[in-house]
Amino acid sequence: MKKFVFAAAMLGSAAMTGQSFAADQKFISIGTGGVTGVYYPTGGAICRLVNKNRKEHGLRCSAESTGGSIYNINTVRAGELEFGVAQSDWQYHAYNGTSKFADAGKFEKLRAVFSVHPEPVTVIASDSSGVNTLTDVKGKRMNIGNPGSGTRGTWEVIEEAMGWKRSDLKLAAEMKSAETGQAVCDGKIDAYFWLVGHPSALTQESLASCDAHLVDVTGPAIDKLVADNSFYRTATIPAGMYNNKKDVQTFGVGATFVSSADVPAETVYVVVKAVFENFDQFKKLHPAFGNLKPEEMIKDSLSAPLHDGAMKYYKEKGWM
Ligand code: GLU
Repeated sequence: MKKFVFAAAMLGSAAMTGQSFAADQKFISIGTGGVTGVYYPTGGAICRLVNKNRKEHGLRCSAESTGGSIYNINTVRAGELEFGVAQSDWQYHAYNGTSKFADAGKFEKLRAVFSVHPEPVTVIASDSSGVNTLTDVKGKRMNIGNPGSGTRGTWEVIEEAMGWKRSDLKLAAEMKSAETGQAVCDGKIDAYFWLVGHPSALTQESLASCDAHLVDVTGPAIDKLVADNSFYRTATIPAGMYNNKKDVQTFGVGATFVSSADVPAETVYVVVKAVFENFDQFKKLHPAFGNLKPEEMIKDSLSAPLHDGAMKYYKEKGWM
């Protein structure tokens, strides 16, 4: 009996030590995308800078591979992720409760933190597919993105703008981005479609390891989408970025970093500070960050209000 009491007392004190240790450490997670995309290394880069000063602020950051933008926004909304990377079109629609977010209603607590790299609509087609323009994908086998990806959502917008039905594709594959490169090289699909920063590892791999090319995404329906929606811009993938001899003409969105008003301002402040105090290092963590400028990142492509913790840091820096 005495022994038992002693053991229980020991357990009790161990549990208490564990508890006070856990109280010093706070865990934050960033929802990203497929491992061969740019969101995943973006989350990784942010976490790396946050974790550098973990001893001072007690935050431990981890980046999770996820299905992409829409999944990330919904999971931040559910309070299961503190941060997510999301396309600017889906940030806009989530905050306003429009398009794919009409059923869920306005996500009023959605907060913008900063924007990151541009994400042009990118179509990679095998040379044997005969796909050289957007209209050529009609009747072909194309990957339109996994459910939950921003890519998939934006495909549905383009499909409607073009006046197409899903059955206008011979095959509408729903693979995750990481599987698409191999599928196009193996001839299982003619093309894949995604919105991604450049250069991206997957795009590079597909264009280097099989006979494939980038396709222009232009035409009157695209011009109208860009004219009617503030979050779309015309975009080019510059000549020589991959195997393309000419600029690829397309349109796109911005990748943005979002959170919720339920995440404490101190947490967001620490994250934002880690990125901007180490900005030269941040830019070196991915080649798609090469042209980023803080003054653009704190306003461009953002439609939800800035998080208080981010705003505090930007004001301290005299940026707002
Ligand atoms: N924009 C893509 C999406 O939300 C993800 C791109 C990436 O993984 O870098 O589906």
